[in-house]
Amino acid sequence: MRKRGFTVAVIFLTAWVSSTVFAGQSGIDTGSVRLIPVAENIYAVAPSFAGASGALILSDGGHIVVDTHGSPASARALIDAVSRISDDPIRYVVNTHWHVDHHSGNLAYRETFGNDVVFISHDNTRKDIPTLGAEQFEQVVPYRSMAVQSANDVLAKNMDDHGEALAAEKITAIEAFRDEQIELAARPDYAYTLADLTYSDSITLHTDSDTVEVFFLHPAHTRSDSIVYLRDQEILIVGDLLTQPILWSWSSYPSQYVLTLKALEQLAVKKILIGHGGPVLDGKSYLVQARQFLEAAVAHAVLSHAAGLSEDKAIEAAAKNAAIEDFRRSFVSKTEDKLFDQMVGWTISRAYLEL
Ligand SMILES: [Zn+2]
Repeated sequence: MRKRGFTVAVIFLTAWVSSTVFAGQSGIDTGSVRLIPVAENIYAVAPSFAGASGALILSDGGHIVVDTHGSPASARALIDAVSRISDDPIRYVVNTHWHVDHHSGNLAYRETFGNDVVFISHDNTRKDIPTLGAEQFEQVVPYRSMAVQSANDVLAKNMDDHGEALAAEKITAIEAFRDEQIELAARPDYAYTLADLTYSDSITLHTDSDTVEVFFLHPAHTRSDSIVYLRDQEILIVGDLLTQPILWSWSSYPSQYVLTLKALEQLAVKKILIGHGGPVLDGKSYLVQARQFLEAAVAHAVLSHAAGLSEDKAIEAAAKNAAIEDFRRSFVSKTEDKLFDQMVGWTISRAYLEL
């Protein structure tokens, strides 16, 4: 249990770290979320301050949203932004997996569009949200007050990374993030909005203008990740299958994760939209890097396990494994070494569970 508490804290608070990763990518600011153009009518949707990224496909006859961020407030910001751009409603919402930062905004879509919006997920994601997702939601509650405190500290200091006064949009984004945490902390009875439509292998959404493939390959980041593919545009939306600066592999299935990423490497892909960091990657180089790292970590776990090493000893020995260490600087800078160690620890631990 000690490990799990730490895990939750790391995951939640690291949202702050990754909030600056996409600062270089320009886009349309809407307060809580930012729309970053990827191709015609396709946007990455990034939180302005912290949290998970999703996607928006503006489609004739009804739009498609992938993942709904960490709160109804962020979801409402996106709904408002879309209503300013288009008269068509949001018709489909895909939830990629059960982690709470990817579906806690669902409620806002139901409140706005009633039963005209269709929620889609893998069969097992629908099962896992009210069990594993609810558990994670509870665990995160204490960290929400820490996040509120940190947000207030940043606002009081009124200084950005370059030592200059915070821009007005940044202040709005931080205030919105803080208020979301207060809203969610006050709702331990939080009502999940589960999928109306589930699938086991794949499902294809057809609108007047687009064909959008949603599919599952193997357990990877979770046991039932949905991958969204726009084949004509060669755009892949992978949720948390890929994240930066590290893979958040704490609930992963490393050996099958490798197979999943290998299969994705076979697709024609110009851009990949990822769950944290990014949010838009050109080409497949990070996909390949992630797969190669996972292969090295799994190989280490298999050998360590066969040699009779305990999980803790295997994690300790990983620091001397050149095949793993070679990836350190590809993922993190010197100030983020702890994150890399965390990823190695999670991955080996989960690989041991698979063994
Ligand atoms: Zn996740």
